[in-house]
Amino acid sequence: MATKTKLSKLKSDVCDVCIVGAGPAGSSTAYYLAKQGKNVVLLEKEKFPRRKICGDAVSLRAQMHLERMGVLQEILEEKKGRWAAVGGLVSPRRISYIDNSAQEIGSHLMIAIKREILDEKWLELLNKKERNWLKNIK
Ligand SMILES: Cc1cc2nc3c(=O)[nH]c(=O)nc-3n(C[C@H](O)[C@H](O)[C@H](O)COP(=O)(O)OP(=O)(O)OC[C@H]3O[C@@H](n4cnc5c(N)ncnc54)[C@H](O)[C@@H]3O)c2cc1C
Repeated sequence: MATKTKLSKLKSDVCDVCIVGAGPAGSSTAYYLAKQGKNVVLLEKEKFPRRKICGDAVSLRAQMHLERMGVLQEILEEKKGRWAAVGGLVSPRRISYIDNSAQEIGSHLMIAIKREILDEKWLELLNKKERNWLKNIK
């Protein structure tokens, strides 16, 4: 009987997937795998929220995933994102291409969300959905 209990405890400690790094790639992979019923452990060496050098621009395709996760809606409600319609490139020789996506396609292509905010929202989501997923190793 004691061996049986030990064995079932051992089984519950075994994960299907172990992901190292809770950035956008690791967090969203963890989210989708856990949604499919996989037992996921996500390891992160930093303490969140942490500063991350980034341009903070979230593309249309990434917005779609954030929306599926319910993260984008929360960020918009809390007014923590800024839509950007005008953008482009300026080369060192000052050749530039700047355009307005809202005029071209009728919607904003980018939203700027600080990484500290995005990472914190992911962390909240992962802890909320499956409390024992996130094993912060630091
Ligand atoms: C200057 C700059 C500007 C950028 N601007 C933009 C932009 O505007 N828009 C855009 O979409 N992208 C931008 N990027 C790119 C974007 O930051 C990356 O594509 C994105 O962060 C990659 O996500 P990731 O999850 O793969 O990696 P990361 O975000 O780097 O996450 C990896 C995580 O793994 C953790 N980790 C690493 N090693 C270990 C370990 N051994 N154990 C545990 N944890 C570990 C790290 O702490 C980190 O949290 C920019 C990048 C830079 C450098």
